[in-house]
Amino acid sequence: MKDILTLKIKIKGLVQGVGFRPFIYRIAVKNNLYGWVDNRNDGVYINIEGNQNNLNNFLVGIKMEAPPASNIISINSEEIPFAGFKNFRIIKSKNTSNKITDISPDIAVCDDCLNDMKVQENRIDYPFINCTNCGPRFTIIKDLPYDREQTTMKPFVMCDDCKSEYKNVSDRRFHAQPVACSICGPEYELIYDGKKINNFHDILKITVHLIEEGKIIAMKGLGGFHIACDAQNETTVNRLRELKNRDGKPFAVMFSDINKLKEYTEVDKTTEERILSWQRPILLIPKKKKLAKSVCVGFQTIGAMLPYMPFHYLLFEKLKLPAIVLTSGNLSEEPIIIDNKTAKNELSKISDALLVYNRDIYNRTDDSVAMIVNDKERIIRRSRGYTPSPINLNLNVDGILATGAELVNCFCIGKGKQAILSQHIGDLKNIETLDFYTQTIDQFKKLFRMKPELIVCDLHPDYLSSKYADEQNQTIVRVQHHHAHIASCMAEHNLDEKVIGIAFDGIGLGDDNKIWGGEFFVCDLNDYERINHFEYIPMPGGDKATKNPWRMAVSYLYSYFGEDFKNFELDFLKNINGDELDLLISIIEKNINCPLTSSAGRLFDAVSALTGLCTHSSFHAEAPMRLEAAINHNNNDSYNFDIGEYISMKKTFIEIINDLKNNIPVSKISAKFHNTIINIIFAIVFETSEKYKINKVVLSGGSFQNRYMLERIEKLLTAKGFEVFSHSKTPSNDGGIALGQLAIAAKRKELKK
Ligand code: ZN
Ligand code: ZN
Ligand code: FE
Repeated sequence: MKDILTLKIKIKGLVQGVGFRPFIYRIAVKNNLYGWVDNRNDGVYINIEGNQNNLNNFLVGIKMEAPPASNIISINSEEIPFAGFKNFRIIKSKNTSNKITDISPDIAVCDDCLNDMKVQENRIDYPFINCTNCGPRFTIIKDLPYDREQTTMKPFVMCDDCKSEYKNVSDRRFHAQPVACSICGPEYELIYDGKKINNFHDILKITVHLIEEGKIIAMKGLGGFHIACDAQNETTVNRLRELKNRDGKPFAVMFSDINKLKEYTEVDKTTEERILSWQRPILLIPKKKKLAKSVCVGFQTIGAMLPYMPFHYLLFEKLKLPAIVLTSGNLSEEPIIIDNKTAKNELSKISDALLVYNRDIYNRTDDSVAMIVNDKERIIRRSRGYTPSPINLNLNVDGILATGAELVNCFCIGKGKQAILSQHIGDLKNIETLDFYTQTIDQFKKLFRMKPELIVCDLHPDYLSSKYADEQNQTIVRVQHHHAHIASCMAEHNLDEKVIGIAFDGIGLGDDNKIWGGEFFVCDLNDYERINHFEYIPMPGGDKATKNPWRMAVSYLYSYFGEDFKNFELDFLKNINGDELDLLISIIEKNINCPLTSSAGRLFDAVSALTGLCTHSSFHAEAPMRLEAAINHNNNDSYNFDIGEYISMKKTFIEIINDLKNNIPVSKISAKFHNTIINIIFAIVFETSEKYKINKVVLSGGSFQNRYMLERIEKLLTAKGFEVFSHSKTPSNDGGIALGQLAIAAKRKELKK
């Protein structure tokens, strides 16, 4: 008995709902070990007994062979007295405490299942095939523990075949909660031309035919509805654009496979790895070959993704097309539609056929969007495949609810030292989105067994997320918007010290009641000092300036040159009605609804309009995006500027106007302008680091979604010996704000003790 050991092992991390217990069972049996594994809601517990060598192999195996979607944070093992186990078994999950293990995000269908879809009798071409390594998770979970009865699979009674797989511990579908087959599982239905079609092979045939014919199909996806059509058919894509009332915002595209994707876009190693990952995000990838013109006009990148539902694979098997447009099934800015009835009412207005299935979506998720910059994935919209994976912190954030920003909202809850960021919610000013927000907060409270004891919100009292906080009758912490931006990036990197923080974005309320957005801080998680910022410029008409970048251009010109600018013969002014221009000047003069702003976003807007690239914006951040898209990448020139009490761009504007006069191409002007901003950042960082002896630089805010700027500033600062921290797992836009709010509230709470 001497070399027989008994161990008690506790595993924490993303291990629930990802086939972890059967995985443990299989490697225990393989290594001749006895004992049991139990999945409680605070982790996976194992008591195990056997030969020391085998136990070592077992522990190594846990780390090396864990299921694709699991993410182990820690494994603790300790020796316990000999127990004399006679076999290895799995104990049924119990709801033992309020500390819960993470819920898995949804996982793209795995290769084994795709293979089964061709050979398993009851699953030939069955579009809801899944196993413990793949399939829907978060979108179908109503409550914990993660058992079939607590998911929207509840109404589907397993057939004998499925049940035997579900119960067989050595089967890949052991305890796969959404397990199903063509006999017992969910089914698709196609509604077309007043008819309902239920035979799946007919559905597939007709859908393929309709798409090839140039029709628009609304189809139920994993986390909500999509609208699909042929991405090469200009007439159709253009029609969709009109139906969706979408002027300039690019459509996402699903390519049939990685090879087709490579034919149409520049796919590097990291891009390939991430776009094929089980999260299957939409990645913004540089374009190589054209699809229909209307897919995206004036941009160098395309929002591309690869199939992730079994249905997508079945569709592309039959479809003779390289790619389809796959955009969210919603009307303008409303949340993506998730239920069949609303889809029938709303989406039939903008589509020719409706494809639904009879399993409910419980938690709405959009496709996640990311880009690769400096070889790292940068999440822009965090939803399907990522939510609700937690962010692990060194801070105790337990019981804190952060309500987020307003325009691009995500909220965040704290459990122990984990921050759980909600899926992308959207613009709270939309009433349907606000409902989605409050419902999802309630769902998170229930799902994660969370009772908020402290609420943290933005300093802006009129944000609907701040108003939500006010209504909760709780202690509230209010956090300055750009401090929250920097703190979110710090939290992602577990920084808890003084850093140089650069927050560039659209707008956020400052503590001087002006509108900030081009900010240099020296800050930690508790507090900040504002070191410098862009010069305050009137934002004529407030929010109207955001939608009309020409207003910011005029405001800058008027601030620097008075009415003289009218004699500069600027081309962009030809697009502007003379009366409107005079009216604008008079409201700036009289200071009517002209809040002052130091926003970097508004500065980019102004230059985008001044160069004629975007005078009127049809979607959020369009003007800076068009300015970035115009960059000539082979130009290293820049403009002059002044740094004093604030950053003055007067010299930059004078030189841009000169360049315009001399017919210098916009691509060059754009490059020079971006290089100027990079020089400004470097100059201030350098000076601040000398003065404060700080070497860590944190970049946050939506402006750092500018690939050119992020790529170069990171490389430059790193080359000069700075340690640079930027967002990867969390959005640098306002979707990341809630995490920063959470970290600041936790830090302040800790300091109070
Ligand atoms: Zn699978
Ligand atoms: Zn079945
Ligand atoms: Fe912001």
